[in-house]
Amino acid sequence: MARARELFPGGVSSPVRAFGGVGGEPFVVDRGAGARIWDVDGNEYIDYVLSWGPLVLGHAAPPVLEALRETMRRGTSFGIPTGLEIQLAELVQARMPHVEMLRFVSSGTEATMSALRVARAATGRELVLKFEGCYHGHADSFLVRAGSGVATLGLPNSPGVPGALAALTLTAPFNDVAAVEELMRGHGDRIAAVIVEPVVGNSGFIAPDAAFLPALRRACDAHGALLIFDEVMTGFRIAYGGAVERFGVTPDLTTLGKVIGGGLPVAVYGGRRELMERVAPSGPVYQAGTLSGNPLAMAAGIATLGALTREVHDAIARRTRALVEGLCGIAARRGVPFTADAAGSMFGFFFRAEPVRSFADAKESDVALFRGFFHAALARGVYVAPSAFEAAFVSSAHGDAEIAETLQRFDAALAEARG
Ligand code: PMP
Repeated sequence: MARARELFPGGVSSPVRAFGGVGGEPFVVDRGAGARIWDVDGNEYIDYVLSWGPLVLGHAAPPVLEALRETMRRGTSFGIPTGLEIQLAELVQARMPHVEMLRFVSSGTEATMSALRVARAATGRELVLKFEGCYHGHADSFLVRAGSGVATLGLPNSPGVPGALAALTLTAPFNDVAAVEELMRGHGDRIAAVIVEPVVGNSGFIAPDAAFLPALRRACDAHGALLIFDEVMTGFRIAYGGAVERFGVTPDLTTLGKVIGGGLPVAVYGGRRELMERVAPSGPVYQAGTLSGNPLAMAAGIATLGALTREVHDAIARRTRALVEGLCGIAARRGVPFTADAAGSMFGFFFRAEPVRSFADAKESDVALFRGFFHAALARGVYVAPSAFEAAFVSSAHGDAEIAETLQRFDAALAEARG
């Protein structure tokens, strides 16, 4: 890490990895297998970060490694169509038929910024509405925080984001239908799109109220705005068919990432054919990528979605539910204020007695207790994300033994963290 800090800002290739949210030094990873990873000092951890979501089959999953070996023998990149792109796209469509046409890109950031470009082009409007505590990658339009009050015109929260661009991003609290309706009444005829994480993973895990996503759909329809589901994190996790299957609300555009690449860099934006036909070269909305549809990345995605059958998905979801119920039981026995929830193979917890419905609620949780708990759990070989505001993930490699081991270690970690 001393050498890394000389070379990279904060010693890392992406900010949360630096353990800034919990203090201390990150470990340096050596390898992973199934539900476990090992650091360069030989310590073993049961992993609930899973590369921040992608590894739904666990580390070094045999079907993924096999597909990579087979594919790389034929070359690693061509920049011309391959059959692999079609195979992966058809696997996506089988689960998400509303994604009528799609474009492969290499990161979630590219997917969301491109989806917004399509929405702006299709509506001839420039504003976008996002929700406080939702993260949609680091493109300028999305690096905007909510002001205080119900909703305000955006202010940049990162230096380097032009104020003129940030001013086009409106924010409202997640799960606040009244705030959305008020913003829509005021600005609806200038809003190109409403973008949302259908289940929030970037303020910790926050589920939508039953009325929230239907209300977004109605508000968009009433004002001629497009609805974008950012399923970079939730796709192939909260349900076999994603948010549409789980909630029965259909967006105009969808972004996917993480699981779809099985640990290699793949993301997607797609949706209604009429919208996606606006993308170059069939239409004028420009977006391109040298490594887009990369064969190794496609092969990893095909292997991952191929292995993630409905039965496998449901089995991981059941174990995730058992884990969450176990965590709640332990916290209750120890008298620790705690709330936890799951959707499919994604879950999260907060040290707070009341349920968390928004980023503001999440910030009310006991972050100091989380820090202590994080280090106590890590010392016992359980790795959750190093921040109180991240979701957690379970893979098909997390068996009953790993869940039981996790619960034991969690119990001991909680005892230590409470002091
Ligand atoms: N959208 C969501 C919902 C995400 O969780 C993330 C990343 N965590 C992104 C977009 C950005 O993806 P990437 O890091 O691949 O650019």
